[in-house]
Amino acid sequence: MRAGLAPAVIGATIVSASVFDERALTRHAAGAADFVGRLEGSSVLGAARRGKFLWLPLSGGTAALTAHLGMSGQLLLRAPDAPAERHERIRLGIQHPRHGELAVVFADQRTFGSLAVDALVADGDELIPSQVSHIARDPLDPAFDDTSFIAAVRRRTSAIKRILLDQTLLSGVGNIYADEALWAARIHPESLGRALSAQAVRRLLSEVRLVLEKALAEGGTSFDAQYVNVNGQAGYFAHSLNAYGRVGQPCPRCGGAIVREAFMNRSSHYCPRCQRAAR
Ligand SMILES: [Zn+2]
Repeated sequence: MRAGLAPAVIGATIVSASVFDERALTRHAAGAADFVGRLEGSSVLGAARRGKFLWLPLSGGTAALTAHLGMSGQLLLRAPDAPAERHERIRLGIQHPRHGELAVVFADQRTFGSLAVDALVADGDELIPSQVSHIARDPLDPAFDDTSFIAAVRRRTSAIKRILLDQTLLSGVGNIYADEALWAARIHPESLGRALSAQAVRRLLSEVRLVLEKALAEGGTSFDAQYVNVNGQAGYFAHSLNAYGRVGQPCPRCGGAIVREAFMNRSSHYCPRCQRAAR
């Protein structure tokens, strides 16, 4: 979504903002009028992402239009006079020096997502929205620190699957991507962090990166048919899964049956034959 939006919004001026549903501003405490007032007339300087947060730093350099996509939030690019989307909550009218007038539509079926104009705070030599300050870097971020991540994993007494989903350690890895990376690295999801060798964690990190790169190249996963890219097309990552959602089917590596186990309020999918638990 970030990659799709960036060329259309960077350098654009926000000429109008319309809020149709204030539930889409739960993260903007000052309310709709303040939100609109702070956006209109601002220009967009960039497009960045960590985990499910996507933000557009605004002219002035102190704030960013920040989106948390929740379960089903989408930022869609549309023609300026396009009819309302299903579940449209907020619409921005922008004027881009090369692409002219466009609409950026925030649509969200389940209303867990939210937009906000949030203050930028320092994170090392970078400025990030204050709402993002508890979210660790994405492993595809060039500034991600492999050595400290590996050391942190090996200090943990919890299961590696839980560690992979901990957004204070790394972001961008959801349930599906965690299962796929653990399968690729041949690590059982219940293996304890402290029981893994540094070499195993390094291998896992590199598999996480491969899974994320592949998913990004294919436009994301589309399991609940709600994940769509910026043009409204579903992603196709579902076609290339090895473990997730394949319960009872043969493991593509060893032929053993993939199993599913309850994990927090979701499921873990893995191959008990080639992913042995380290304790
Ligand atoms: Zn296997």
